[in-house]
Amino acid sequence: MPELFIGGTWTAAADGGLREIRCPADGTLVATVDEAGPGDASAAIAAAREAFDSGPWPATPAAERGALLLRVAALIERDQDALARAESLDTGKRLVESEYDMADIANCFRYFGNLVASGGTDRIVDTGDPGVDSRIVHEPVGVCALITPWNYPLLQTAWKVAPALGAGNTFVLKPSELTPHTAVFLMRLLTEAGLPDGVANLVLGTGPAVGAPLTEDPRVDMVSFTGGLVTGRRIMAAAAPTVKKIALELGGKNPNIVFADAEYESAVDYALTAVFLHSGQVCSAGARLLVQDELHDRFVEDVVAGARAIPLGGPFDESARTGPLISAAHREKVEAYVAAGIAEGAVLRCGGARPEDRALDSGFYYLPTVLDECTPGMSVVRDESFGPVLTVERFRDEDEAVALANDTVYGLSGGVWSQDVGRAHRVASRLRAGTVWINDFQPYVPQAEWGGMKQSGFGRELGPAGLAEYQEAKHVWRNLSPRPLRWFE
Ligand code: NAD
Repeated sequence: MPELFIGGTWTAAADGGLREIRCPADGTLVATVDEAGPGDASAAIAAAREAFDSGPWPATPAAERGALLLRVAALIERDQDALARAESLDTGKRLVESEYDMADIANCFRYFGNLVASGGTDRIVDTGDPGVDSRIVHEPVGVCALITPWNYPLLQTAWKVAPALGAGNTFVLKPSELTPHTAVFLMRLLTEAGLPDGVANLVLGTGPAVGAPLTEDPRVDMVSFTGGLVTGRRIMAAAAPTVKKIALELGGKNPNIVFADAEYESAVDYALTAVFLHSGQVCSAGARLLVQDELHDRFVEDVVAGARAIPLGGPFDESARTGPLISAAHREKVEAYVAAGIAEGAVLRCGGARPEDRALDSGFYYLPTVLDECTPGMSVVRDESFGPVLTVERFRDEDEAVALANDTVYGLSGGVWSQDVGRAHRVASRLRAGTVWINDFQPYVPQAEWGGMKQSGFGRELGPAGLAEYQEAKHVWRNLSPRPLRWFE
């Protein structure tokens, strides 16, 4: 069956384009999929436009839209094993991690389903004039282009699709060209749940061929993008001439601050998962470890021992604890950052190479790497390497910790480890980041907003603000007893 989904019909690319999808864990062919071009993107926009302007979905009662999202949640749970398998084959991530993702995705649909069904945020405005009925109503933005990355393919998609549909929008989804399969799967589930034709459209393809046209086309009202900073800047520029609403979830270079009074064993353990989970291909990864001077030597010693012991392997290797990088090109980028860090004076404490295990040769593996004695000016500290690379910096006191933590163009997340509650909260409030964890790292829930400050982007996903992102607030004013003003008499 062809993999593009336009106006309720499965279709091949107009120019016959195809792409091989290979598993990053061992290079085996997962499948060959249709690869769209600008003409397919245009057809998908036309279908979404038609469904928004003339179709039933935007005017469907909120309770019914919410009910549909709840049905999607149930379908995801029904098919979670097949979905998790497809996600792991595309990304190379451990099956168990994909299984966690599917549970989170079902929860995301359920959260937005309940939020939408429970009634909106429309409100009566008290104008102080009894002769006026004034109210704020929330309406869908229109046709949304949803552009997503490869690291959490269906999760990032769900964070957009669920609120976009809940608010009554229509959309064109463009997943990463490297990881298309769960997006294809989702389209089938949306159809099975009863979504009208044309509301959800899917084009598979590259950023330049398919993503760029979506961000430029005047028929598109909004672009919601998750991906890298450089692409985000391009999208902002591309969306400017038609003044689209945009939401950008970009990268992070997130600090994990450990004070000397931290609960030691947990802080070491979380320092490892913060950065080495999914081989560091996590936007909120705690890639910059900031350790208080007096704790530094012992702490780094234990983190290095932990990093050395992490077993690498493919998605279905139950002894593996992390997997490969997404592609050969991405691994080369990570290698270049590590080499630059060492050249700039960082001390390589472990990793810094591909694994010696020949069984892993056909995948894009890279050893968990710790670079000690790093300084803020190093490119490996400044830029998002998006790999299994932990940089370590020292600090003396609270002020220096905050200054180092905030010394980045990014502002997505951060962690603080201290048993001094006052200090932990003081530091949390001074961090310029959209999410701060105290004595923890990485948890998120659909009820809580997610997003970045500074160049990590703007707009929020999840939580009530994640729904509001896909709504326009409209003020409707009714004069209950109109009389001529006679202003000009
Ligand atoms: P990317 O920016 O290379 O690609 C993201 C998506 O944009 C892909 O679908 C790609 O095809 C598309 N694209 C590329 N060029 C485009 C263009 N000119 N116009 C429109 N679309 C275009 O990012 P990636 O490598 O797929 O993902 C990794 C990045 O995503 C990292 O920087 C990571 O931090 C970020 N990320 C952020 C979050 C978050 O919540 N803030 C979550 C996950 C990933």
